[in-house]
Amino acid sequence: MLLNINKHHNGKYGSDKNIENSTREGAFSLYLLYLLNENLNLSIKIEELFEYTAIFLKNNLCIDDFCFMLNNGDNDELTIFKTGSDIFEAVKDVTFKKGEEYACIAAQTGKPFLLNDISKKKDQFFYKGKLENIGSFLSLPLRSKNNRMLGLLNIHKKEINAFTEEDMGLFITVALNIANTIERIELYEKAEKGAMYDDLTMLYQRKFFFDSCHLEHSKAIRHNLHFSIAMIDIDHFKYYNDTYGHLFGDEILKKLAYILKSNVRYSDIVSRYGGEEFAILLPGMDKNSATLVIDKLRDVVKRILSLEVAEGKVECVTITAGVAGYPEDGNSVKQILSVADKYLYIGKSCGRNRVVNNTLDDHQPFHQNVKKTKHSSLLSKEEVNLLLYKNVNRRISRFKTLLRVDKGINNIQCFEIKVMEDDWRICVIGDIGKGGFKGDLDFKPKLDEIFTCRVVVDSEVYLPAIFSIRIAHEKIIHKNRYEIGAEIVDGHNNWKYIFSLLTNNK
Ligand code: GH3
Ligand code: MG
Ligand code: MG
Repeated sequence: MLLNINKHHNGKYGSDKNIENSTREGAFSLYLLYLLNENLNLSIKIEELFEYTAIFLKNNLCIDDFCFMLNNGDNDELTIFKTGSDIFEAVKDVTFKKGEEYACIAAQTGKPFLLNDISKKKDQFFYKGKLENIGSFLSLPLRSKNNRMLGLLNIHKKEINAFTEEDMGLFITVALNIANTIERIELYEKAEKGAMYDDLTMLYQRKFFFDSCHLEHSKAIRHNLHFSIAMIDIDHFKYYNDTYGHLFGDEILKKLAYILKSNVRYSDIVSRYGGEEFAILLPGMDKNSATLVIDKLRDVVKRILSLEVAEGKVECVTITAGVAGYPEDGNSVKQILSVADKYLYIGKSCGRNRVVNNTLDDHQPFHQNVKKTKHSSLLSKEEVNLLLYKNVNRRISRFKTLLRVDKGINNIQCFEIKVMEDDWRICVIGDIGKGGFKGDLDFKPKLDEIFTCRVVVDSEVYLPAIFSIRIAHEKIIHKNRYEIGAEIVDGHNNWKYIFSLLTNNK
């Protein structure tokens, strides 16, 4: 008997003693199984399971020579995964076909296989000739309660006839418990993987992204480090869905995910934040370096994310991104995320296909810090006029210049137009005048339609200056973008105030 409860017995007891001993051995077996299960229950990784089991086999059952073989996916092979002693190191990672030799015959039959004296079996190599044919050998299938064959536990003893009937009973139960634990761990890993990755893009899900951000945030606080977060959104994605169908949209999402993943560092966390929005955590990276990385990504997407929609017709997809950094954009993950989102929102309202990392962005985000130091209030009227009229993209940059001139007094970012209760759409402002303005929208308004408007000062902060407009003209300028001419029809005083803020013309 290999259990350590009565080392001296040789099976020759009187009947009373026999009953007494077998009761004690039964109780001890139960105790051993309890010990084993206690450890198995703690295992959440296969490696941990084998680690615990190896300790149990050695310390409690005095077995040194053993190995675990596991199924190699769905094929007919088994690989030696974990071994108990130096002798077995020789066979670690060796692969066998099921039933190929004695060492793996139990995987084919599904039943325990016992050889009381291996030396008598010279007809086959043992472990492909890497181990000697001596002593006793017991091979136990790792078959779960759901009847799945997962592998084998092979046990060796140097003595012949070393396994008794009782040992077999105990070992079969040990093998069943191990198999059930393997199955539980597999299910757990599958569920964990499912919760961690997005099915369509195979990027991390939002929850894993948040957890990683919080971890990085604590690290940054402790060690005085930087980190950055980029929020990315596909431009005009609804147009692709509506024009070419949802599957086409899905194809874009998958391709973009691949481009994002393959153009950042291994340690960066790329996630699908939701719908057609992606978020990237760049650990240890300051905002300016992160902006460079994300702008490179934007450029790669613009150059290679094109899909052929008809013969000779290709759609090129672009992205817009906001990049915020710790510590300059906030003390908490929530703040940094919301600032990145705000920059993304600005990027959208400034024309898309760009990376924004500052409210003062004017399409060249990397030079922003330099620009910021030149405070606009120091500009002379002549310089302002020069800026107003010399810009290439006149309509947008004129507005931006006006904003810059006024920086310090207000932070006006754009107008919003109310299309329904709680549904406000961004209007990118072009020229402004005393009686109205020109702008563009992402929906087609009707001529003469009246809309209420408000002014966004900062993300989700509005000026208390509502006014109403009438659509005086509209024309399509690009996909789902419409240029409008708006006439102020109500709230004239408010408009006057806004006009004065925008033009610094009090
Ligand atoms: P913008 O440039 O302002 O971002 O415009 P947009 O059209 O990209 O933005 P909008 O938010 O109006 O559209 C997002 C669309 O993304 C709407 C929704 O139907 C679509 N969408 C969200 N998730 C999925 C998805 O998993 N697959 C597909 N095909 N479409 C999705
Ligand atoms: Mg979106
Ligand atoms: Mg979008």
